[in-house]
Amino acid sequence: TAPDDCPPDREVLGRATWTFLHTMAAYYPEKPNEREQTMMKSLLSSFSQFYPCGHCAEHLRDEMKKEPPKVASRMELAWWMCGMHNKVNTMLGKDEFDCNKLDERWRDGPSDGRCD
Ligand code: FAD
Repeated sequence: TAPDDCPPDREVLGRATWTFLHTMAAYYPEKPNEREQTMMKSLLSSFSQFYPCGHCAEHLRDEMKKEPPKVASRMELAWWMCGMHNKVNTMLGKDEFDCNKLDERWRDGPSDGRCD
């Protein structure tokens, strides 16, 4: 891998972006109001226009057409995001992530306390 002060390649950008997206979903309101739901839809739609990996963004837009973002609650958004990421994982030949472990991975940390 290139040194830290080089522009990000697709992998580095991808890891940073998934960290942001899953963490954002993990802290989305449990009961978002109408305005928050509209803003989240708009954020994701804009994101899929401007994500700076052209073919990744195109693939994401296709998937979002088939399965539009679910923004009615924190859990719905987190699981939707997990599903989107798993589609990319499958396409790249990586293992699927167990979406039951979302909060442990992105919000609460493991029960052994090693991340506290
Ligand atoms: P990443 O896939 O970046 O995952 C980071 C961490 O997230 C993992 O270590 C794991 O702990 C956790 N995780 C994994 N799966 C899930 C999940 N389903 N839900 C929650 N957490 C999870 N790369 C390409 O080569 N081609 C593409 O078309 C492409 N499209 C992309 C589209 C988007 C929107 C994004 C954000 C990235 C895309 N990438 C693409 C990059 C790719 O997804 C990976 O980020 C990159 O290959 C680095 O992978 P990684 O193995 O380090 O882990």
